[in-house]
Amino acid sequence: MKHPSSQLRTATRRAKSDVANKLISMFLHELSQSISRTWKVKIGSAEYVEMVREAFGNLCPYCSCEMADATFIVEHLDGMNRLRAGLHVPGNVLVACKRCNNEKRRDDSLTVLSLAASGWESFLSHDGTRCKMLCPTCKYWAARWSDEAERKSRLSENLLRIRLFRNRFEEFQTVLPALHATLPALLAKSYLECQVFAETEIKSLLERFRATSGVQF
Ligand SMILES: [Zn+2]
Ligand SMILES: [Zn+2]
Repeated sequence: MKHPSSQLRTATRRAKSDVANKLISMFLHELSQSISRTWKVKIGSAEYVEMVREAFGNLCPYCSCEMADATFIVEHLDGMNRLRAGLHVPGNVLVACKRCNNEKRRDDSLTVLSLAASGWESFLSHDGTRCKMLCPTCKYWAARWSDEAERKSRLSENLLRIRLFRNRFEEFQTVLPALHATLPALLAKSYLECQVFAETEIKSLLERFRATSGVQF
């Protein structure tokens, strides 16, 4: 068993990254709102819901399972984290099954993507022939479509369908290259600075508490 103090240190480190992740998420939501204010289609509008339904029917855009057979949740194609810098804007938001949303996190949290240019494209690229060893995502797709030829064609069909969907959003396509070119570096810097700030602030608070309370510790 781990020593309690090492568990505590792990918890403190996790709390600092939670603070930093929260900051990134708040920033990405704020940017999403500002950047899309004048866009023709609004997220949450009946028109957008209809565009998503038209593109994917009642199926998960990744694994094609039926909405009626699974739990579906809001999904961001480019994940809303510091690495993928996804926004909550039309063209990046859809609904997917909870399992895919969960499985996709592995690609979304890779610092360097080797299979594709984006997290969602990478997720759909694990056809069982491109990873050195069968990775958990390759296994996930192999369990969904056991026949290799079928798996490859289903994955590339879904990849194409998502690309076509995204291409329908002109304003989104216009800003996308600039987002990808600038945000990850900016966010990486903020993420680090926020962690340093949290650490410094906690230490300083401890000192101030020690000084004002007179409690010895
Ligand atoms: Zn799915
Ligand atoms: Zn793989």
